[in-house]
Amino acid sequence: MRMMLLGPPGAGKGTQAQRIVDAYDIVQLSTGDMLRAAVAAETPVGLQAKEIMARGDLVPDSVVIQIVSDRLDEPDCANGFILDGFPRTVAQAEALDALLEEKGLRLDTTIELAVDDTALLQRIEKRASETVGGARADDNADALKKRLDVYHAQTKPLIDFYRGKGLLMSVDGMQSIDDVTTSIMAALDRVKSSATA
Ligand code: AMP
Repeated sequence: MRMMLLGPPGAGKGTQAQRIVDAYDIVQLSTGDMLRAAVAAETPVGLQAKEIMARGDLVPDSVVIQIVSDRLDEPDCANGFILDGFPRTVAQAEALDALLEEKGLRLDTTIELAVDDTALLQRIEKRASETVGGARADDNADALKKRLDVYHAQTKPLIDFYRGKGLLMSVDGMQSIDDVTTSIMAALDRVKSSATA
């Protein structure tokens, strides 16, 4: 299974990605995790990304595209992967198309976690109040709101991009965490059975 999860910050992509990884024995490719590791290790990419991430902006497309391209070449991606947090712009989505074609791979589906904005803002504020001084520099209310704005401006157009390719399935992300997982698994079952039909 080669797929991606699309949705705003706070929609639960990371939690759901982990469950899909376990169910399908594939790897989770989270550009946010990879960038945080680069920041922690103070690599050149990390040094470039640190401030940008802390304020909730997007790291340049060229940086994340290179990271993903290198990661896709690693052997553990052979059984499939779930992209979490990438692509985030139309330019990244187009670059991903080119990368996959070059590597002879095809995306099976994109799952959108559809979440209501008002509820998201509440979740975001809750998360910010719970994580004061926590591990993520961008989990404060200002950066989280910025990330939501950036999602609307730059990432949301990807919903139409993948719908246009016939690769979009939408799941109600306002359900309980377990019910969201059940809905995702049902959607993935449909993808699997149509692939083998
Ligand atoms: P995430 O863990 O996916 O919420 O990502 C945290 C932060 O990492 C984002 O707010 C961005 O600053 C950066 N980031 C992660 N993925 C990308 C991406 N695909 N393009 C640009 N910046 C990214």
